[in-house]
Amino acid sequence: GQYLCDVPSCRSVLKRCNNDVAHGACNCLPDASSGEPLCIYCGLNQVIPSLDAEANLAKWRKLEAAKRRTLYTVRALGFPVAAASDPPLRFAFLTDINGPVTTGHENGLITINVREADDVERERTRVQMGEPQRTLVGHFRHELGHFYWDLLVKNQRLDEFRSLFGNELDPSYDVAMRRYYDQGPPSDWNEQFVSEYASMHPWEDFAETFNTYLDMASIVSTAAQQQIATTLHDDFESLLLAYCEIGSAVNELNREMGLKDLVPEIIHPTVAAKLRFVDELRRQTDEARPHPLDAPHFADIVAAAD
Ligand SMILES: [Zn+2]
Ligand SMILES: [Zn+2]
Repeated sequence: GQYLCDVPSCRSVLKRCNNDVAHGACNCLPDASSGEPLCIYCGLNQVIPSLDAEANLAKWRKLEAAKRRTLYTVRALGFPVAAASDPPLRFAFLTDINGPVTTGHENGLITINVREADDVERERTRVQMGEPQRTLVGHFRHELGHFYWDLLVKNQRLDEFRSLFGNELDPSYDVAMRRYYDQGPPSDWNEQFVSEYASMHPWEDFAETFNTYLDMASIVSTAAQQQIATTLHDDFESLLLAYCEIGSAVNELNREMGLKDLVPEIIHPTVAAKLRFVDELRRQTDEARPHPLDAPHFADIVAAAD
């Protein structure tokens, strides 16, 4: 079956991604002319869990949905999303079957423990770690922060990074990690960091800040699409202001329902400067932003062709 984009200026002929056809795990529609069976998002997978176990299929579908949502935002903001980058971006979704798996990033490979897609397990970890939120999109946003540090900061803007986030070599990551788990965050962490975990080491600070920047950009753009927010200004100051306004309003709504805050963090000026650094990174890569019609197609926005 082929599909046709119903945007009159587009009319691309599309096909279903093979992860949808075979597993119901994708709703992205690649161009019918593409020689690849998988869409751009599924094509980044290096390892998926064994689907012999029914429970793994349900968890993998949740992981893919969170991955697509996150990468869609990242790409729309102008960050490069390609398997051809150096290091290439890839994903591995692993279970603990062959020993403990740590969620993390190394040299372009983002590993997520499949257990994180189990709501009970994830909530238990959130309470143990004292985190205000723990979500699958949050995992992808954080680990992508590590990836973009390698791709856009390490060899290009290291001095500027160190003036805002500190020297990533002193103390070393291992020393900083041991100190954090022994002593916890400094008591005034929220004046300098977006989360407690961000206070551990400059790399984690950047990943947590990147995570929050993506929260900010996706909440403000979706609020504009849903006509909750007023006119969408594209500059950083307006973005931050809109995020804080929407956040405090929705926090109150959530509290009425006994739900967790949408926006738990308080953005002090030091944190705002770090967020602005991420904003500048995505603007410097603006030329890589795809033409709107090059954006991926999803099953809910196209009509089936006859
Ligand atoms: Zn796909
Ligand atoms: Zn991290």
